[in-house]
Amino acid sequence: MSRIAYILLCLIIFSCSTSPKKTVVEKEVPPPPAPRVDLKVINLEIHNGFVKKIEYEIKEDVTLLKLKCNGRDNGFDKTQKGIRFFVSAPYKFEVDKFNCQLSSDKFGWTPIVNFTIKAYPYRQEFLKVPKKHVDLAQKDIDRWLKEKEKLKEVYEAAILDRALFTEEFKRPLNSKVTSDYGKSRVFNDKKDSWHSGIDFRARKPTPIPNSNRGKVAFTGDLFFNGLTVIIDHGLGIFSMYCHLSKINVQEGEIIPQGEIVGLSGNTGRSSAPHLHWGVKVSGNWINGFSLLDQGI
Ligand SMILES: [Zn+2]
Repeated sequence: MSRIAYILLCLIIFSCSTSPKKTVVEKEVPPPPAPRVDLKVINLEIHNGFVKKIEYEIKEDVTLLKLKCNGRDNGFDKTQKGIRFFVSAPYKFEVDKFNCQLSSDKFGWTPIVNFTIKAYPYRQEFLKVPKKHVDLAQKDIDRWLKEKEKLKEVYEAAILDRALFTEEFKRPLNSKVTSDYGKSRVFNDKKDSWHSGIDFRARKPTPIPNSNRGKVAFTGDLFFNGLTVIIDHGLGIFSMYCHLSKINVQEGEIIPQGEIVGLSGNTGRSSAPHLHWGVKVSGNWINGFSLLDQGI
């Protein structure tokens, strides 16, 4: 064999014998190890229909964070030490446990808070209202369904990545509470619903101040709630003012705490003039009073 032929043969054998080995070696290369991030898991109890503010410390410098509580995107913002968020437990719950999970570019979904829901002893309330509001006509059902769709859009557009407020939330009126949050309601002897807000006495057309700084997310006349204003405060927190006789603000405006959103009244499904104040946090209507003592 000539010297050149020998070299060529060696090259062919070498290339043939190395290709399969190369593939095996590539398969065996382990993925680069993920940076270790210490996330502490906190265990908390929460009543159904209540809210909790959480300040969660994160030692490592991470970006692109995402937060899910009870399976849905939850608002939060960054603080010097980590993140701040408000999370609520639904009034109606089938399982008494849920968690909040964090994810980022450095780690996958990891639980950071485990909640156990404790049932709160809510009461029952009996009300008489005009029959047309209990047995709904088809046109009223159609109207209500349309309104429900519109409101779904309002809540889906929630500002989740920042707070528009810098002060603690305030109760809108200091008058007597005429109906608590969470009572189950029996309309004209028919079990109908539960009370998703707090009713305040407001017999005369009383000026209604905004609970905290926020963006006017909705104004309109709703079948059940009458003339209504909804404020988006950011971080997934909304407040709602219902049964008004007049609306003073416009959609899209950013309004400060204390700004008069309208005047109290008796519009919609209401047995007497009053203010219905609703507070929605992380997708649940909650007891607004439980937000007031959480601080910011
Ligand atoms: Zn009410």
